Amino acid sequence: MTTAKLAIGLDIGGTKIAGAVVDEGGTVHAELVEPTPEESDAQAVSAVLLDLIERLRAGRAVGSIGVGAAGIVEWPAGRMLWAPNNEYRDWPVREQLEKATGLPVVVDNDANVAALAEARLGHRDPGNDRSRPYSHMLLVTVGTGIGGGVVMDGRIYRGPTGLGTELGHIVLNPDGPECGCGNHGCFEAYASGTALTRMGREAAADDPDGLIARLGAEQGEVTGHTVVTAVQQGDPTAGAAFARLGRWLGVGIASLANVFEVEAVVVGGGLVETGELLLQPARVAAREFAYAPTARGVAPVVPATFGGDAGKIGAALLALEHADR
Ligand SMILES: [Zn+2]
Repeated sequence: MTTAKLAIGLDIGGTKIAGAVVDEGGTVHAELVEPTPEESDAQAVSAVLLDLIERLRAGRAVGSIGVGAAGIVEWPAGRMLWAPNNEYRDWPVREQLEKATGLPVVVDNDANVAALAEARLGHRDPGNDRSRPYSHMLLVTVGTGIGGGVVMDGRIYRGPTGLGTELGHIVLNPDGPECGCGNHGCFEAYASGTALTRMGREAAADDPDGLIARLGAEQGEVTGHTVVTAVQQGDPTAGAAFARLGRWLGVGIASLANVFEVEAVVVGGGLVETGELLLQPARVAAREFAYAPTARGVAPVVPATFGGDAGKIGAALLALEHADR
């Protein structure tokens, strides 16, 4: 008798740690979420991970564990070197969890595992709920920053030690605005939630009586969310900010798609929930800046299938694929 193989997928973010029991088809059999501890050092975070594992494992034949974590992870050692929003450093996650659970464990960057989930089980066309795997795909996640993952020949591209692909930090303009990484004019500085906040603040300063400024005064400050609210209320200034943001997104996507011949560029992350407002101008610019589009074609720009669940589902899929070897 064969039963579905099960793995636990864990996704460590800056604000929450999500876990799920997932099978090879991506079906979630159980899920739990806990806040990331205030003091997010290795000891506190591993206590949360072990508690989630114990609860998720109870009564289920789980064969392996996958972890996706924000930050720089050494592959295949599974050592978390550094994270932008959590305090853990040089943390041997894989070794520690394998000792504690007796199960095989894989640990990778959260954007890499999200890219794996989209490549294996993502829907090619949003109106069609059937999945067909991509062998060559880019995932670009647009949230506070821009992250992403590259799938080539059906596998996550990690580089020699797993430090991977920082898609958000290709430089679009060396004289551009400062980026969170310390450089200037990165893709992330132009097309992320942080960029939307900056555009919103500039708009509020230019027009103190405009809707963005008024909503910002009500909310205490202007953020990217203020611009999203304003655009949903039909504000033309907010609409123009989205058009600019989407155009920069398309410029970055074209720059990446000109390097990698891919079947699709999948766009995920919180800002994609605004849908066509962002994706429509991004598609126009992705086509405008594509290299030799008549000969090479233009990779479709499609929204992600899994949204916030991509990390834990991808982490579990990675564990299932590696446990089979
Ligand atoms: Zn940067």
